[in-house]
Amino acid sequence: MKIHEYQGKEILRKYGVTVPRGIPCMSVDEAVKAAETLGGPVWVVKAQIHAGGRGKGGGVKVAKSLEQVKEYANQIMGMQLVTHQTGPEGQKVRRLLIEEGADIKKELYVSMVTDRVSQRVVLMASSEGGMDIEEVAEKHPELIHSIAIDPSVGLTDAEADAIATKIGVPAASLPQARANLQGLYKAYWETDASLAEINPLILTGDGKVIALDAKFNFDSNALFRQPEIVAYRDLDEEDPAEIEASKFDLAYISLDGNIGCLVNGAGLAMATMDTIKLFGGEPANFLDVGGGATAEKVTEAFKIMLKNPGLKAILVNIFGGIMRCDVIAEGVIAASKAVSLQVPLVVRMKGTNEDLGKKMLAESGLPIISADTMEDAAKSVVAAAAGQA
Ligand code: ADP
Ligand code: MG
Repeated sequence: MKIHEYQGKEILRKYGVTVPRGIPCMSVDEAVKAAETLGGPVWVVKAQIHAGGRGKGGGVKVAKSLEQVKEYANQIMGMQLVTHQTGPEGQKVRRLLIEEGADIKKELYVSMVTDRVSQRVVLMASSEGGMDIEEVAEKHPELIHSIAIDPSVGLTDAEADAIATKIGVPAASLPQARANLQGLYKAYWETDASLAEINPLILTGDGKVIALDAKFNFDSNALFRQPEIVAYRDLDEEDPAEIEASKFDLAYISLDGNIGCLVNGAGLAMATMDTIKLFGGEPANFLDVGGGATAEKVTEAFKIMLKNPGLKAILVNIFGGIMRCDVIAEGVIAASKAVSLQVPLVVRMKGTNEDLGKKMLAESGLPIISADTMEDAAKSVVAAAAGQA
């Protein structure tokens, strides 16, 4: 799960990380009032969307008067902000952060991620903040420093100071850099984050160390014990199909292709997508209906897939273990009728009550294309999506 920058900064503030004073706003009027409350002389108007790269896309602007705050807030609020993380259609800006302007002397980079190899939280830091860290990693890997943190002791003073020194924090600013890094680690740990990135962490003209940006991702498997994080959820920023699917306990991810996939089990779902790609097709989604899918759940899954206007064909690929093929057949038939299915449907089922399921599909009178192997199924659905069925 992702959150907005201003929410991330709220968390950081709680853990003693220095962040600029700022006020989140839902309208241009609120933005002007916020700027008055903060006081001048310099404010930054910042688009709040769940994507980075806002500065380059025109979503972060420095204002030197209240009139300018109003002008920029007007420009940014409601815009379709396109960044390298939003895709070409961009993301509509519905919230702003009005923040006091900071006196930036140097922009640094720090982040934390959970590293599966060392099974630890890794702190990464670089003197090259403000820009794409991917680019730094590619061109100047020697400028990225990292350390795996021992969970039994946390980030020690010595470790924090060593890494801060490596990225160019002067001796006088080390105590504050240390407090910020240790606060970031504690915030990461206690909120079950899976990513925390401060880009840039800045050094100011008078030697302060401040987090100017804040990006957090959280482990969704831990949200049950993080009600305060769940409260930060902003459904406007999420894919409507994915929200709908989560209501029915379906694991659904939207993708760019045109072949809908309905599969039971995440592993089989991924193998199905791979097979479709192998035969030249592109999946429109990942969908795992789970082990105990009912006819009702299958119907909902069909409805969600069919909301995608680009959908050209559907492949149902079921392994009947605990799940019986006749139950799936019943669901597929009910769903096809309920949604008066217009796109070609390829069904492959294997396992428990396979023959009965196939018989039900054949006798349903629906134009279902039956397939026996994964290869058959993928070839048929790719041809169907291309209009060659
Ligand atoms: P993004 O990473 O999405 O582009 P940032 O929050 O990092 O957004 O802002 C982009 C740039 O804008 C920063 O690298 C910094 O140079 C500048 N900036 C952001 N917030 C402030 C602020 N409060 N004061 C001064 N400059 C800022
Ligand atoms: Mg940034």
